[in-house]
Amino acid sequence: MDKFINRLSTTLFSHKTPSQQPTCSPALPLLFLEYFLRRFAVTYTTFAVLHPLVSSAAFTLVISQTYNIMNFSDNAMKINKNIFAINKLLEDAYHSPRLGNKKNPLNELLYIQLSLRTTGPSFGRVYAGFKRVFPRWEDVYEAPQKEIAKALFNAGLSNQKAANLKRILRRLKMDFGKVSLEPLRVYEDTTMEGYLCSLPGLGKKSARCIMLYSFDRKVFPVDAHCFRIVRRLGWIRPGTKYSDKVADRLQGMIPKELRYSLHVNMVAHGRAICSERFPKCNICPILKFSRYGQKHVLSKGKS
Ligand code: SF4
Repeated sequence: MDKFINRLSTTLFSHKTPSQQPTCSPALPLLFLEYFLRRFAVTYTTFAVLHPLVSSAAFTLVISQTYNIMNFSDNAMKINKNIFAINKLLEDAYHSPRLGNKKNPLNELLYIQLSLRTTGPSFGRVYAGFKRVFPRWEDVYEAPQKEIAKALFNAGLSNQKAANLKRILRRLKMDFGKVSLEPLRVYEDTTMEGYLCSLPGLGKKSARCIMLYSFDRKVFPVDAHCFRIVRRLGWIRPGTKYSDKVADRLQGMIPKELRYSLHVNMVAHGRAICSERFPKCNICPILKFSRYGQKHVLSKGKS
């Protein structure tokens, strides 16, 4: 390295301007090329030493991914077998409730955004209060962000939600010339989902809620209730974390005609019986299909 620096400084400062100021030599690019070639050689040697470790890590990764896929497809067969029965039992218990969701897609967008990190009755109240202050979306578009945040105060993260809302409305005005999501109605599912997911603060779950409730599309939003229930049913492995990929696979497993009823009834079931901390498995209508419930009830029966 010292040798390289010596050569670099000699080359750099070997040419002087008439005013005797050091200037850059034309040999500089060649020197840098040499330096990078040496670096490459070192990296290559390091790689050769690390190669067995890297390849065994890659092997482990491939095996775990394959296992994951196998696990999903194995469950997919079981789901196909039981899903209609589960849907029927949940439908009989909850009758596909509307859950306060909105027909107007922009209203639904607000409703869903308010529901993030807010509890049920509370975000319903905030929504109603917001609509009293701003009955028309044009009013929200014109209003200063501060006033929007004030109207959202009880929703939590009100400044962030107000900023996102403002940016969304500006984007709609720019794209469609009006503050409305109605122009999306002619889009096919993938394009619609892509557009909604590109709006500030909107993820796949929110996009699919808007598509399901306001555009009558046959999608399956995986919210916290649905995710908990499908995990307990054993449709996905116990330690699986939510991700867009998992949400896509779950949606792919559910027949289109069941997506609406299964989603709304699972939300109702999650609120009424299959809660996060204290699931009431002993009165659950789908106990016989639930891996978690079977284990939970059986272990209680034994003790
Ligand atoms: S049996 Fe228990 S864990 Fe399983 S779905 Fe029913 S309430 Fe949830």
